[in-house]
Amino acid sequence: MDIRVGFGFDVHQLVVGRPLWLGGVLIPHEKGCDGHSDADVLLHAICDALLGAAALRDIGFHFPNTDARWKGADSKDLLREVVRLLLERGWRVGNVDATLCLEQPKINPHIPEMVRVLAPILGVAEDCVSIKATTNEKLGYVGSENGANAYAVCLIQKK
Ligand code: MG
Repeated sequence: MDIRVGFGFDVHQLVVGRPLWLGGVLIPHEKGCDGHSDADVLLHAICDALLGAAALRDIGFHFPNTDARWKGADSKDLLREVVRLLLERGWRVGNVDATLCLEQPKINPHIPEMVRVLAPILGVAEDCVSIKATTNEKLGYVGSENGANAYAVCLIQKK
């Protein structure tokens, strides 16, 4: 069987007055991730893992933050486009495992909805999408609530 693995990482600043989109879900909070698109740090890490598995460069290559087309973009649309690029080359998603790292708010209550939103976009069953969350134990820029990190790995297989 032809299989590949991929890894993705992303970081965004957290600023007052931005909506907090994580895993395709809008989460009530006084701060949100800053960025050109909706700045969904978790989806960006998943996009990079998928692109990496297929050796298709990275999210900045496909969706440059200098391109007005992606200003305010819904990152679910970016993920849809990444999955389409993979399908075009004969790859389908096997599974995704991701970790979100931020101090506030608590993410665990929102994980089931993130999985419900992401599984159909990825074209997999819900038990093929794993999202985990951790704080940074108050250390560094994540711990001081100035930023959020996300990490993702995935497996893709030839159809
Ligand atoms: Mg990003």
